[in-house]
Amino acid sequence: MKKNGAHNQYFFGMTNAGMEETMESNVISNVFGTKVFNDEVMQEYLPKKTYQALKKTIENGEELTPEMANVVAHGMKEWALSNGATHYTHWFQPMTGVTAEKHDSFISAESDSRAVLEFNGKELIKGEPDASSFPSGGLRATFEARGYTAWDCTSPTFLREDAIGVTLCIPTAFCSYTGEALDKKTPLLRSMEAISKQAVRILKLLGKTDVTNVSCSVGPEQEYFLVDRNKFLQRKDLIFTGRTLFGAMPPKGQELDDHYFGSIRERQASFMNELNIELWKLGILSKTQHNEVAPAQHEMAPIYDSANIATDHNQLVMETMKKVARRHGLECLLHEKPFAGVNGSGKHNNWSIVTNNGENLLSPGSAPHNNTQFLLFLAAVIAAVDEHAALLRMSASNPGNDHRLGADEAPPAIISIFLGEQLEDIVEQIIETGTATHSLKGGKMDIGVSSIPPVKKDATDRNRTSPFAFTGNKFEFRMLGSSMSIADANTVLNAAVADVLEKMAEELETALDVNEAAEKLIQKTLKEHRKIIFNGNGYSDEWVAEAEQRGLPNVRTMVDATSSLTDPKTVTMFENQNVFSKTELESRAEINYEAYAKAINIEAKAMIDMATKQYIPSVIKYTTSLAESINSIQKACPEADISVQTSILKQCSSLLASTREALIALREINEKAGAIEEAKTQAEFYRDQVFPAMNKLRAPIDELEMLVDKEDWPVPSYGDMLFEV
Ligand code: ADP
Ligand code: MG
Repeated sequence: MKKNGAHNQYFFGMTNAGMEETMESNVISNVFGTKVFNDEVMQEYLPKKTYQALKKTIENGEELTPEMANVVAHGMKEWALSNGATHYTHWFQPMTGVTAEKHDSFISAESDSRAVLEFNGKELIKGEPDASSFPSGGLRATFEARGYTAWDCTSPTFLREDAIGVTLCIPTAFCSYTGEALDKKTPLLRSMEAISKQAVRILKLLGKTDVTNVSCSVGPEQEYFLVDRNKFLQRKDLIFTGRTLFGAMPPKGQELDDHYFGSIRERQASFMNELNIELWKLGILSKTQHNEVAPAQHEMAPIYDSANIATDHNQLVMETMKKVARRHGLECLLHEKPFAGVNGSGKHNNWSIVTNNGENLLSPGSAPHNNTQFLLFLAAVIAAVDEHAALLRMSASNPGNDHRLGADEAPPAIISIFLGEQLEDIVEQIIETGTATHSLKGGKMDIGVSSIPPVKKDATDRNRTSPFAFTGNKFEFRMLGSSMSIADANTVLNAAVADVLEKMAEELETALDVNEAAEKLIQKTLKEHRKIIFNGNGYSDEWVAEAEQRGLPNVRTMVDATSSLTDPKTVTMFENQNVFSKTELESRAEINYEAYAKAINIEAKAMIDMATKQYIPSVIKYTTSLAESINSIQKACPEADISVQTSILKQCSSLLASTREALIALREINEKAGAIEEAKTQAEFYRDQVFPAMNKLRAPIDELEMLVDKEDWPVPSYGDMLFEV
């Protein structure tokens, strides 16, 4: 049962739906967490004392002694070896946004030339990958390439099984010789400590003295496309950049909305089945799956977990999707906009704050209007999002997401908060009178069919156009791009909210009557930040105008957004919360500019390559054969009407000339861009000069695609890729 193949057979071979359900739960319980060094395994492989010490480290951050670390390492090694592992790796998340690892085998040579398998505490706790080629934004001079990985025991160690064999993966933080963060995990962990500290402080003031720790729960919904791998391999743009740089729209797009929540086709279904099993093995609670708006687009959501684990898991989800897709002859596209004109992919980051007693601080309860604790935390989130709107937008920026944010599909580039009718009403009451006296109730929904029992309505409808929406007992930040790490967004959220909570705590600590002071503080905060609350249609033009009047930032591109990283307001907030130093922020801004420039440069080069070697030769071939056919028709039958052929020939030749012109222009401007030294100037140049030149090259080629014989077209079309999966 533990073998993959056996599972598939077992899993797919069933027909009876009822039976499938019971079997499925069996599959889940049989495989769940089998590749994770989880609590159960720890108890089995570690002496009781060591287990208890490790638990204390995980739960309360208490230091693990070197002796204990040695014992843990030994237990981990035994478990890994018994599962066939040959290597271990420190698994980390450098600022590239994807994960990195360096594999070491357990082998150490003994004098009598026998292989001895070794793994000690030192190797578990610290690693020293040659870090010079990871982006550091000038934090480490290249000659001084020391970077360390440090074990993060709060995220479970796991086994990865692939062509290399079985590898023990140890989640780690990655920092420089001088302790600066070189990764996405370190700041996230720091931000979690910050918000915990301040939330505990507030709760203590409100009388909840038994809360010692508060953690952020995160559930990321992951969108992706699945395309046929053979077709994918014929598209250099997809291979090199993750998105199509050319391509005419198919006759049928997503107009019919028939894909959304549609039944899942066989091939994708078998992919999803295997994906689920692989994720369950890794202890990832893969929960929902459905088709998305665009053809060939899907979504998967796990059950939420603590922000750190959710971040690690989301990286594993993306990796696993890619890997499993290939086993099914598919390619998983995680890019934010793989196909122009077709809905892109995002990631919804569901976020809430929960105490160590399991209380969700964003849960409104049955009478939110007099739930001071809830209202205080709600006000804190509203204030934090308003204060740091531009920074939050930054945390959802990458080159791919520039194609979505502010365009007509996903949330606009303007940050606003949707609270829903019930909370908005309470907020209004508080702002007007200082206290709220009632909460709107949901009531019953009348479907108008007497045989359908009455359905209880939520107090609030959904709003799909809001970038930051309250959804019952959590906020859903919907701006993230599908390929991004969720670490940045959660780091910003945690730190910004912690900063507001700190100021609130300071104020409340000096108050004579905490409850009275809290009510005043809630009113003051809501008044000050009500401008960020918007319940209407976020996609409308009126909103863009109104948001401008309200003074809300509308940051259109990643390059513009990046300056918020070094804004004095950001620096103060992050330094105050010990999440980032000014130097770290400056380095991250630098990395952003570089990443943007690199991404556009690769896209431009891929376009130049495809136009030169694929499109232009194909069109020449087609026009030549067209000309030859015109000649032979004329020869055979001088009076035949050849106006259609000549007109196509003329059109193609003229578009071919435009193509060549645009190609030369793109080549020139891209070379110029490459010569610019200063990172920000260079990024701006890529955005303002190179990017438009790319669009100019795309236009005639997409037009040609509609004219040239399909047989002669060098790459699969949008239609081929989106509808023939
Ligand atoms: P949707 O209707 O938007 O798909 P769901 O209720 O299915 O929303 O949840 C989407 C995601 O939100 C899931 O990953 C879920 O686990 C997560 N989620 C639910 N409750 C919370 C919470 N309190 N904190 C964080 N994430 C949550
Ligand atoms: Mg959602």
